[in-house]
Amino acid sequence: MTAPKALVAGNWKMNGLKAAATEIVKLNDLVNENGAKCDVLICPPFTLISTLMDLSADHVAIGAQDCHMNMKGAHTGDISVDMLKDLGCGYIIVGHSERRADHSESNDVVNAKAVAAQSVGTIAIICVGETIEERQAGNALNVVTSQVTASIPAGATTENTIIAYEPVWAIGTGHTPTIGDVEEMHNAIREVLLVRFGDKASDINILYGGSVKASNAHELMAVKNVNGALVGGASLKADDFFGIISAYDEIG
Ligand code: PEP
Repeated sequence: MTAPKALVAGNWKMNGLKAAATEIVKLNDLVNENGAKCDVLICPPFTLISTLMDLSADHVAIGAQDCHMNMKGAHTGDISVDMLKDLGCGYIIVGHSERRADHSESNDVVNAKAVAAQSVGTIAIICVGETIEERQAGNALNVVTSQVTASIPAGATTENTIIAYEPVWAIGTGHTPTIGDVEEMHNAIREVLLVRFGDKASDINILYGGSVKASNAHELMAVKNVNGALVGGASLKADDFFGIISAYDEIG
């Protein structure tokens, strides 16, 4: 059983104009000069993918925040996986809680988007996470493990699947779960993956997301079965994001 390299991924959400390209150049330089013991990914808005792809060189991968479940057709305003692949994206985030909430995306929709992403050879980063009400009701483990089971496509492999556990109440709030709660959830997700993929389940990275910053990254990333981070706010500035990447210098 070989664990893959950890992944620290940035989700810029609906942030970034053309001028933000300077942050990618800076991030690329930081990784180039100092090295990184994890893979590094930025998922900018669709409008910046092409520009950033040209500037990120070999050190920062560029991915997408969402895709349509269909390959083409009459879907005004949507973006297909072929279009993203065409730009060079190797990763596509699906099922972010903001998509699930703002666009009523069910597990079935997330599953269909992951199918589309994987069908063109990109890696689907499948997001799951409970609301504060679900956690307070003691349902967090059930909710999240059900999301994982239902959102992973039947044809998924350990090579084209990443899970991101992001408690909804931790996103953009400055609050994080206790280390014990993070470990409990990541272990539970790994159990679901073991049932599904057997011994190869350890090849799948399980990212933690929700208010990760340089000051808490080491503690969170050192937890068993946490294989990287999905980062929102702290990924917008190269220096902040590199502080999170550097947490892996001590974790190995
Ligand atoms: C996210 O949007 O995926 C996220 C984790 O945001 P933040 O890091 O800002 O909490």
